[in-house]
Amino acid sequence: MNACDEYAVKALRYLDGDLRGKELEEFRSHVDSCANCQAHLEAEAALSDVLHGSRPLYTAPLSLRTRVSAAINQHAVPGTAADGLYASVFRGMRERFPVALDAS
Ligand SMILES: [Zn+2]
Repeated sequence: MNACDEYAVKALRYLDGDLRGKELEEFRSHVDSCANCQAHLEAEAALSDVLHGSRPLYTAPLSLRTRVSAAINQHAVPGTAADGLYASVFRGMRERFPVALDAS
């Protein structure tokens, strides 16, 4: 994975306000000097705006929501980039689709 690949993953966390301290500084520094990552960040921000404005067409059954939550918790390794990514994605989905993911 090259540096831009790493920052592409971090773009999602950046947009969710999940980057802090040195990690945030490094991300901003790289994006400020990299046209590729600037374009990627703009595309992710545009997609995020679309998702924020959309609503689910269907509500998943409680049993499916429970299994998905359990799988995420089971496979996320604490302290890894994947853990942060899964947590960030799931938190974003929960905020955007509260009825679909949190109804019980
Ligand atoms: Zn880059």
